[in-house]
Amino acid sequence: MYDILVIGTGPAGYTSALYSARYNLDVIQVGEMPGGLISEAPEVCNYPGFDSISGMELGDRMEEQVKDIGAEVVYDKVEKIEGDDQDFTVKTSRDEYRAKKVILATGQERRRLGLERENEFKGKGVSYCATCDAAFYEDKRVGIVGGGDAALASALLLSDHAEKVYILYRREEFFRPEPIRVEEIEQEEKIKPVFEVNVKRLIGEDKLEAVELDNSETLEVDGLFIEIGSTPNSDLAEDIGVELSEGGYVKTDEDRRTNIPGVFAAGDVIDSPLKQAITAAGQGAEAASTAYEDLKKEEVR
Ligand SMILES: Cc1cc2nc3c(=O)[nH]c(=O)nc-3n(C[C@H](O)[C@H](O)[C@H](O)COP(=O)(O)OP(=O)(O)OC[C@H]3O[C@@H](n4cnc5c(N)ncnc54)[C@H](O)[C@@H]3O)c2cc1C
Repeated sequence: MYDILVIGTGPAGYTSALYSARYNLDVIQVGEMPGGLISEAPEVCNYPGFDSISGMELGDRMEEQVKDIGAEVVYDKVEKIEGDDQDFTVKTSRDEYRAKKVILATGQERRRLGLERENEFKGKGVSYCATCDAAFYEDKRVGIVGGGDAALASALLLSDHAEKVYILYRREEFFRPEPIRVEEIEQEEKIKPVFEVNVKRLIGEDKLEAVELDNSETLEVDGLFIEIGSTPNSDLAEDIGVELSEGGYVKTDEDRRTNIPGVFAAGDVIDSPLKQAITAAGQGAEAASTAYEDLKKEEVR
């Protein structure tokens, strides 16, 4: 019986496991693959302590630190959680584990356009995170696919760096935008919205150089930011009755408790606005700390 079982091996999961181990708890961390989403980032320049580090290396260092301190890390897919507070059974594709508390740190997946060469150009012009990558496009030309609020926020952020920003959107107007953002977009000369278009083809040799649109125009761009939403990995949470937001994200209180006793959550899977490695790590620390406090109180009783 473990004190804590953490699901997910991204920044939120590693930090939960790290804090749990430092509280001297028996902790096991189960995740599908090392590093989580951050390992897809070619360069991370906004994680304190590193001027610049590849996402892969950052993930590797987190894993190393967690293992060094004595947490058990297992790479496997969790398929089901059963039981209640103080006695959960977590079933994976190869095994099953029992734990008193469970921390969900399963992250989210960015929606992809599904275009040929999209994977090949990821990190070479195609990006799913303007907050992370905008600074790499100083004085360059970029496109943004999407027309929701996130796409507009990304366009404004990119206009601080890029020379020209095209918003490429399939509808005839933006989707439920904040009015103030639309005003800001209209006032920014670098931003040009193009409505009723879809990106049909990604063009380039070793990196993205242009995109072909379905109105038969070709736009020369150095970067294409895909902002068509994300899907939280919250199926496991939903199965055990954890309350989700409208978009399917896990609801937690400020101490990272969910509505199900003994189940905590942290990182991109939770209903919080800033989805970054640093916030995921912070929430992972909070979840572990709250789980520790609860375990301590329960021991005293
Ligand atoms: C291209 C790109 C660049 C980025 N650049 C930056 C950056 O520069 N700076 C920054 O701060 N942030 C960046 N981010 C965002 C950052 O990666 C995320 O905010 C962060 O990884 C979230 O951490 P997390 O632990 O919550 O989730 P994740 O990192 O997504 O980890 C979740 C883990 O849970 C696993 N999992 C899910 N379901 C199961 C299951 N059933 N069983 C077992 N395991 C499961 C997943 O496989 C994954 O390993 C970037 C994201 C992308 C896509």
